[in-house]
Amino acid sequence: MKNIEVKKIIKALNASDGAGVKLKRSIGTPEADYIDPFLMLDEFGSENKEDYIAGFPPHPHRGIETVTYMLNGEFEHQDSTGAKGIMASGDVQWMKTGRGIIHSEMPAMKEGKLLGFQLWINMPAKLKKNKPEYLYIKGKELGTHKDSEKEVKVIAGKYKNAEGPEKKHNVEPIYFHVILKEDKEFGCDVPKGHNSFIYLLKGELKIGNINHSKTSDSNLILLERGDKLAVKAQKKSEFLFIAGKPIGEPIARGGPFVMNTKAEILEAIKDYNNGTFAKY
Ligand code: MN
Repeated sequence: MKNIEVKKIIKALNASDGAGVKLKRSIGTPEADYIDPFLMLDEFGSENKEDYIAGFPPHPHRGIETVTYMLNGEFEHQDSTGAKGIMASGDVQWMKTGRGIIHSEMPAMKEGKLLGFQLWINMPAKLKKNKPEYLYIKGKELGTHKDSEKEVKVIAGKYKNAEGPEKKHNVEPIYFHVILKEDKEFGCDVPKGHNSFIYLLKGELKIGNINHSKTSDSNLILLERGDKLAVKAQKKSEFLFIAGKPIGEPIARGGPFVMNTKAEILEAIKDYNNGTFAKY
C-alpha cells in the first residue's frame, strides 16, 4: 500500500461565469488546468443575491459531463431534450452532454444563501458523440455514512456500506462529501492509477504522513498517486474528496466544448451557429 501525500495546495481563484455569477474556480485555472479526467471545479456561493440572481442563461455544452451538487439554495434547470427540474439543497444533477445539449441553470430562489459545486469530467473520444443523458439524484438517495466522528455523503464510489448511484462509469469516479469532527480521522482506499484531490470547504486538514503547508478554506489540495488516503481534521472540517481514472487523450478546449482536437471545437461552433448542434 502507498500512502497518498499532498502534491500541491492551490487557493481557488475568484471568477465569474454565466450572466455574472460569482464563483471560486480551482480546476480549470493556470495552476491546475486539467487534472485528468477533471476539467473544472467551481464553488458558487454567496449570501448576496446580486452575486447569483442572473444565473446561467441558455448555453451549449459538448464532450463533457457536469456534476452539480447543491448544498444550499435552489436552481432550476431546463434543456434542449425537454428535461426540466428543480435542484434543492442536497441534490445532485449529473449531466452527460455527449454530442451536445443547450441548457440553462437559473436560480429558483430570490434571496438567501447559495452554496454549491460544479465539477466537469472529461468524456473519452468514443463517448463524446453519444446522446445526452441525465441523472437527477435527490439528496436522500445519496449513500450516507454517519458515525460519532464523521458524516460521509457518497455522490460516487463506495464508502463502507454507502454507495453512490452512478455505478458503471468509465472513469470509476469517487466523490465524497465529508464532515469530520476535530482531531478525528478519515481514510479510504483509492485505485492506484486514479488522480485525486481534496477541496477544503472549511476547517484545516493534515493529509498523509509528510508535513505540508497549512490548508485553509477554498483550497484545492492536489494529491500524489497512491492507494491509501488518510486525513486528520486539525479542527472541525468539511471537504470534498474526488478521484477518477485518467482518460489519457489529448484535449482541446473551447469554452463550453471540450473535444480532442481544435478542428472538433470549430465543428462544434459551426454546428451551434447553423442550428444542428443539439440534433441527434
Ligand atoms: Mn452549463
